[in-house]
Amino acid sequence: MNNISTKSFSANGKTYNPPAKPIVVICMDGSADEYLDTTMAHDLMPNLKKMAFQGYRGMVRGALPSFTNVNNSSIVTGVSPAVHGICGNFFYDLKKDQEVMMNSSEYLRADTLLAAAANAGRKVAVVTAKEKLRDILSYKLKGIAFSAEKADQVKLDTHGIENAEEIIGYKTPAIYSAEASLFVLRAGVALIEKGMADFLYLSLTDYMQHTYAPETEESLAFYQAQDVELGKMLELGAIIGATADHGMNSKIKADGTPNVLYIETMLTEKFGPGFRVICPITDPYVKHHGALGSYVLVYMDDTSKIVEVKNWLALQHGITEVYDKETGCRILEQPADRTGDLFVLSARDVVVGRTAADHDLKALDGTLRSHGGRYEEMVPLVVSHPLNAAYKRKAQGDPRNFDVFDFAINGTH
Ligand SMILES: [Zn+2]
Repeated sequence: MNNISTKSFSANGKTYNPPAKPIVVICMDGSADEYLDTTMAHDLMPNLKKMAFQGYRGMVRGALPSFTNVNNSSIVTGVSPAVHGICGNFFYDLKKDQEVMMNSSEYLRADTLLAAAANAGRKVAVVTAKEKLRDILSYKLKGIAFSAEKADQVKLDTHGIENAEEIIGYKTPAIYSAEASLFVLRAGVALIEKGMADFLYLSLTDYMQHTYAPETEESLAFYQAQDVELGKMLELGAIIGATADHGMNSKIKADGTPNVLYIETMLTEKFGPGFRVICPITDPYVKHHGALGSYVLVYMDDTSKIVEVKNWLALQHGITEVYDKETGCRILEQPADRTGDLFVLSARDVVVGRTAADHDLKALDGTLRSHGGRYEEMVPLVVSHPLNAAYKRKAQGDPRNFDVFDFAINGTH
């Protein structure tokens, strides 16, 4: 591993002083700490255990809403949604009067530290399981960026790499599979091994966590397989920082059926028409969650009754937090121009939706595990190398999952 640049770089007010070692940050999508705990209790993650023992393992606070796009954007910019602007998979564009996907980097308001690292001479690679994240993660990036989902379609001029399947030694996986995430980790190993990257962001997918609880055989095997790739990266001399974008909780009633509150229906029944509920978890991967999460926004045609509506909602069983725009933007770190009149968050085992007709529960794989709210906010952080005194202190404060690059780069030397 020669010629690794140690030139410092800055992004969004933070300076990074990278050591001459491969830096790998992994977003273990949907990895509530229970997944790591359970797999480690079965002695199936020896490399992660070694990382935790020799380096650091603790809990960090993610960005809200606890969604994939939001937190991936935070991790690569190092700042909250209030600054980078990505506050859901989906939002209501008031100017266009349209509900639109927020997948595109045109909605990103901050530069990424990945692009800054590349400009400082690092060989940067972004590998994401889901194609939907690639555009945001590769914003202004001079380097490699591709998804497992479309690994067979990469081109040198658009993805910074060609023949990815050949280089990695695996075929493009199905997106609804464990292999989709494992492919990302295997790509990371291959890119370091072949000297093609020395600064990597590897973003997995949460299909497995949406489908399987921590103690299931499928989950254990999945995390065990991830651990094998962690071991290879450690052997290649990498400093690894691993965190998650959000946790994952079961959202079902005692009888096993989805525990859903249809907020637009509830409000219309109580107050009459004039409400628009937006579910910012909505994305093309409906099999994961049927567009049901623990966070929605309410838009009101007539806001004169807003206090009454807010107070009524806050008293409904299963609703845990309701904020008006100003309070919500501060507490939840949101960009004011992309949010509704009210923010609604639900309980650990409850999801909130729009109306029954807006959600296809049949698309689910027979269960409902989801995220988006407060109870999926705290996620693990594991750093492979010992933290220095300053970052040990920082870890005891209010560290964020989007400090993971900071911890891995500045905290380990
Ligand atoms: Zn996710």
